[in-house]
Amino acid sequence: MTLSTGCLSGSTGAPARAMELDALTDCDGLAMNGSRTDSAAPLATVATGLVLTTASSASPKQRGLLLRLLAVALAAPLALYIVLAYSPLATARAFYPPDMASARKALVVVAHPDDEALFFSPTLTTLRSRGAETHVLVMSNGGFYGLGPRRQQEMLGSCGALGVAPEHCTVLDQSDLRDAPRQWWPTQRIEAYVREMVHRHNISLVVSFDDTGISGHLNHRATSAAVTNLALSDASFPPTYLLRTVHYKRFGGHSLLEMIPAAAPFAWQWLFGLDGHALLVSSWSDYLRGRRAFAAHRSQGGWDSWMWRSRYMFANHLRRVGRASAVRNAGRRSDAVCGAARVSLPAVL
Ligand SMILES: [Zn+2]
Repeated sequence: MTLSTGCLSGSTGAPARAMELDALTDCDGLAMNGSRTDSAAPLATVATGLVLTTASSASPKQRGLLLRLLAVALAAPLALYIVLAYSPLATARAFYPPDMASARKALVVVAHPDDEALFFSPTLTTLRSRGAETHVLVMSNGGFYGLGPRRQQEMLGSCGALGVAPEHCTVLDQSDLRDAPRQWWPTQRIEAYVREMVHRHNISLVVSFDDTGISGHLNHRATSAAVTNLALSDASFPPTYLLRTVHYKRFGGHSLLEMIPAAAPFAWQWLFGLDGHALLVSSWSDYLRGRRAFAAHRSQGGWDSWMWRSRYMFANHLRRVGRASAVRNAGRRSDAVCGAARVSLPAVL
């Protein structure tokens, strides 16, 4: 693992992470808070009550039909998961675009240690299993609660679980890129580090957050803005994909139910031979790799009891950077972009 030298500062500890995840946004851009995150639970309760009430007053024949319908409703997401994770359809153009399939070296850019495990493990494990060499660049050491050095070391275990070689796992520790939920990092600094990583390792594919940054954390969003700007302003920059934000507790966090809304947008691409979006679904063994990766972040344990069933542990919907991204991000950047400042990454991790 590569660790840069510099001033130590902040990190996303467990309390901060809980706050961060309580302010999530769903895929339609609707602001979500802690109370709404549980909205799926009452829905499930109502649905269960309706089924039980109907069943109690139904004839034996009607009960049989109801049970068959329930069986189909439960089997359909499972069948879809198996198709998306294991069948040849998983590598069809509609789900796995040609520029992603041809990439030999992929770089995932995140803001804090554990982002790579919590949100990007399907991307890292799937690309690796399909032959790509994977790299991770973490823009801060996550030292908001003074745990930076410990979290840097935890990254070693996470990268190991995800199949990322230690020399391809880079954690920065810079005074102007400190872990702080309310701090917008300087875009040019992020761009400079990402550009250096791309050049140093001859990267052919870049993946990062979308402009919502999963949780709305400003460090995530600043990282996204910088990566997006690089992709749009530099014609030689590798194909770049952003992770689509979806509320992590939708359907109560039941990942198999997420397979249907995750796959639905791809029907159009599949029918008409289009690309531009990618859907990477972890095999079961890769899902377990993601779990082991997060377990390596021992300093972050205790708040994530629901995380094992989060959609992001099973599937990543990625969208290729295009002009629409530029328009959305343009009004959110607080500093100048398009700079070409050069930085030096550490030679040894
Ligand atoms: Zn983060």
